[in-house]
Amino acid sequence: MDIHAYVPGKAKAEGVADPVKLSANENILGCSEQAREAYAGAAGQLHMYPDSRTSLLRAAVAERFRLEPERLIFGQGSDEVFQLLNQAFLEPGDNIVQGEYGFAAYAIGAYACQAQVRRAKEPNYTIDVDEILKCVDERTRIVFIANPANPTGTWVPFAEIERLHRALPASVVLVLDGAYSEFCNDPAFDDGMDLARTAQNVVVTRTFSKLHGLAALRVGWGYAPAEIAAAVDRIRLPFNISIPGQLAAVAALADEDFQRRSVEHVDRWRPWLAQQLGGLGLEVVLPSAANFLLVGFPKTPGRTAVEAEAFLAGKGLLVRGVGNYGLPHHVRITIGLEEHNRAVTEALAEFLKA
Ligand code: PMP
Repeated sequence: MDIHAYVPGKAKAEGVADPVKLSANENILGCSEQAREAYAGAAGQLHMYPDSRTSLLRAAVAERFRLEPERLIFGQGSDEVFQLLNQAFLEPGDNIVQGEYGFAAYAIGAYACQAQVRRAKEPNYTIDVDEILKCVDERTRIVFIANPANPTGTWVPFAEIERLHRALPASVVLVLDGAYSEFCNDPAFDDGMDLARTAQNVVVTRTFSKLHGLAALRVGWGYAPAEIAAAVDRIRLPFNISIPGQLAAVAALADEDFQRRSVEHVDRWRPWLAQQLGGLGLEVVLPSAANFLLVGFPKTPGRTAVEAEAFLAGKGLLVRGVGNYGLPHHVRITIGLEEHNRAVTEALAEFLKA
């Protein structure tokens, strides 16, 4: 079976007591205080199985986004939603299509189903609808588009998503992964939720790991056509969302103040960091609409991305080299707190001067 192991980020800050983690696009502000209290409040229920239907959270998500509850799929992170979709649709020899630098989780599940992964060229580090369509053939079952994408941070305007949807055969499921969608405030951006309300083959996914800062609890969801949601439900293991996860997610969803502060923080510091790093002569991939930046390094020995990652790690700043995404000359840096962003800028200035 053609299965490629997931390779986690390797950076270690050896000898540094308390490294700053800017390598996994987590929420640098932490999470909502109410979510933390809800999590702690679940302590009395640790002996119990969770509600297998995820009813409270299902109702909360349905109400907040005005979605039909029975069309929601809950997973251990959106990763599990992708996995379930792959399992539901892929036979050996089928394929999925994604961007060439696309997020690793889609492919892991596809390979486990003995399916193939077709990677569409991403000119200017951006998903290109025509390139995606070139990869689609009669064995394509799912097209995965992260919008905004990881690790590039770039995004596709809704008109292009609509064009892609129109051009795809109805038998192909279009998954719009909105893990970072809340961080994109450009008016031309649309997460596709309205398209998914009426289309027969569109699934929109979201996560509690990024905006809501609950990555540890592994809660994600998808909004799918009723038949797809029902098919996934037949292969989903019961009890996949823990009680602390369900309760904290409900509380997080209600804490709009925390969500607003999280978005504002990224809005404020992303352009600042991009400008500083650009000023050092580094190639910053723009526009980034997520809570991170992708930064290109020279190929000159002593200045490379791999060396930059190690240099930053030595200063207690963990960033993510993205060689395993097909980008060996780039690192991905999560937008940190002000002091982290200043520390990264200073350390990289020193690195490039040395
Ligand atoms: N989609 C993208 C594009 C991501 O970068 C991530 C997390 N790194 C996810 C989905 C999955 O997040 P989770 O499983 O935590 O919901």
